[in-house]
Amino acid sequence: MPVKKRTSQNILLSTALENFYGAAEEMGLDDDLVEILSRPERSLCVSLPVTMDDGSIRVFEGYRVQYSTALGPAKGGFRYHPNVDLEECEALGSLMTWKCSLAGIPYGGGKGGISCDPSELSMPEKERLTRTFAARVAPIVGEWTDIPAPDVNTGAQEMVWFMDTISKMRGRLEPGIVTGKPVSIWGSRGRNAATGVGVATCVMELLKTEGVDVKGARVIIQGFGNVGSHAALTMVKSGAKIVGVSDVTGGYYAPGGIDIRKAVEHVNANPKKTLEGFKGPGLNKIDGDDILTQETDVLAPCALEGAVNAKNAANIKARYIVEGANGPVTPEADEIVGEKGIMVVPDFLANSGGVIGSYFEWVQNLNGFFWTEEEYNHRLIPIMTDNFYRVWNYSREYGEKMRRAAFLVAIKRVADAVKMRGTFL
Ligand code: GLU
Repeated sequence: MPVKKRTSQNILLSTALENFYGAAEEMGLDDDLVEILSRPERSLCVSLPVTMDDGSIRVFEGYRVQYSTALGPAKGGFRYHPNVDLEECEALGSLMTWKCSLAGIPYGGGKGGISCDPSELSMPEKERLTRTFAARVAPIVGEWTDIPAPDVNTGAQEMVWFMDTISKMRGRLEPGIVTGKPVSIWGSRGRNAATGVGVATCVMELLKTEGVDVKGARVIIQGFGNVGSHAALTMVKSGAKIVGVSDVTGGYYAPGGIDIRKAVEHVNANPKKTLEGFKGPGLNKIDGDDILTQETDVLAPCALEGAVNAKNAANIKARYIVEGANGPVTPEADEIVGEKGIMVVPDFLANSGGVIGSYFEWVQNLNGFFWTEEEYNHRLIPIMTDNFYRVWNYSREYGEKMRRAAFLVAIKRVADAVKMRGTFL
């Protein structure tokens, strides 16, 4: 039977499927493997009744998708955002599958989330929502089955609520059930900065291999949350010049460079944790979207999906785009920037430092023995560097774009595992 290709109205899922089918065809993947790998193994939809502070009850919708467990337990974060739905979790779960495969860590991929606007929720409401979510997905999560982590609008506090709820339900501590916990509660030193450190490692290796001096190289970072800020801090340590940053409050551009430590201090001191009111020498406040099209060598979109799209792609002036977020360049934009000769380092390579860091945290949880931050980075940076060159070399050798090369490498490892593990007789 010829493969019946799946399609979707959801832009993230249709992109994920298009990328998968394109790579599968090019590598001559067997039809049965195409069928198996183009759909999630398991999807769970949950309803979440939450008592709000005013005493009323609101029912939220939540999801957990285990896209693949061929290489190990499903791994991937859960996010709180109004756009969350089943298809988005499916798409992001497939991306996690390729990310973990490419990273060479013993995990499959998954993703989850709750459709909500967290800025409208109080802390106690968020806690009740998170604990209800944990209880509803409890039957399918575990340190050897599915290990959630932080994602958009979730962090250490949500992870602790999640772990605590499951631990209470099971009557035993379950530290390895979730990663991204605070250092004081079974988390790992280094995990918080890991995604940003990984993005910075990719940027620096890319510049090196392209013969561009990292010292003084100009970088723009769109999104100044956990990923963007740690990427910026790591890059300035190596001498790169961050000429632009942005967040929900707008863009901040200074051709002479921004003092990133001051920007981070400003955000930390601001109760809203934004760049609002940030000032510095030569700093121009511009529209948030306009930061993407300023003069720079590297553009690192580290916020949400779809930032670089058909509307702005033609105006991008960067020579390189390194995707810190998941899916920040749409397929149309990918074509446009490709024609302009801009090289794109894909998300599931560039931002894999987060999940590699999660793997380190899980290993420490299983052993009950903790590493220093030096040990952590000592292991993270060589893995990121190796993964970067594996994709880079493949892309050079076979004349492929980095994204396609990354898909080909990642799909092969999962497909080989599915083939060897087989189906039931
Ligand atoms: N949410 C992060 C990602 O998309 C981290 C996932 C994890 O550590 O499991 O890669």
